[in-house]
Amino acid sequence: MEIKNPRFLKSSQKLSELPPDDKPEYAFVGRSNVGKSSLINRLCNRKQLAKTSGTPGKTQLINHFLIDDTWYIVDLPGYGYAQVSKKERRVFQSMITEFVVERESLMCVMVLIDSRIKPQKIDLEFIEFLGVNEVPFVIVFTKTDKPKKTELAANIELFKNTMLETWEELPPMFQTSAVKGTGKEKLLGYIDEVNKLF
Ligand code: GDP
Repeated sequence: MEIKNPRFLKSSQKLSELPPDDKPEYAFVGRSNVGKSSLINRLCNRKQLAKTSGTPGKTQLINHFLIDDTWYIVDLPGYGYAQVSKKERRVFQSMITEFVVERESLMCVMVLIDSRIKPQKIDLEFIEFLGVNEVPFVIVFTKTDKPKKTELAANIELFKNTMLETWEELPPMFQTSAVKGTGKEKLLGYIDEVNKLF
């Protein structure tokens, strides 16, 4: 599948502002700076559809992109070192939690993981939260052009093994690079298949 007509639809500050849940949605989420905006732009063949943020954790809104008039990419605020007050962070966190758990049209959460580094507690905790709430998700490793091949393989292996300490089965996993375009076809192919289940 190729995306032909991506467009920014709206930013929602509250769940009551969300667009109607009448199309399949895929939420992209990960630590600030994981490469989320770059990946969304690469998937959509656009340079600046999603804003690559200089300030980590600045985008504290739920952004909807309407893709080819049939499905949505949802850009969720990055978790991690958001430069906002604790109170603000709690409000956003509860909003994201509610969105992910309650949203009927959310087909899958794309959990972005930086392939350059060892498994991070905050990522594993978020994955655990998805599991407990039975939210479907896949793992998307980002920036795979960066580490050496052996290092990449070792990081992914370690991530899998860490997950297998608490999970019986592993979710689908994708290796991507926004710089090289790696993994784009497979990820969009997956979305194309899941769209049929809506
Ligand atoms: P976000 O905060 O998760 O939206 O991350 P961005 O998309 O803004 O990317 C954060 C930084 O990582 C930027 O400096 C990007 O240029 C860089 N980056 C993003 N994706 C890749 C990638 O696939 N490969 C490499 N080498 N760098 C990347």
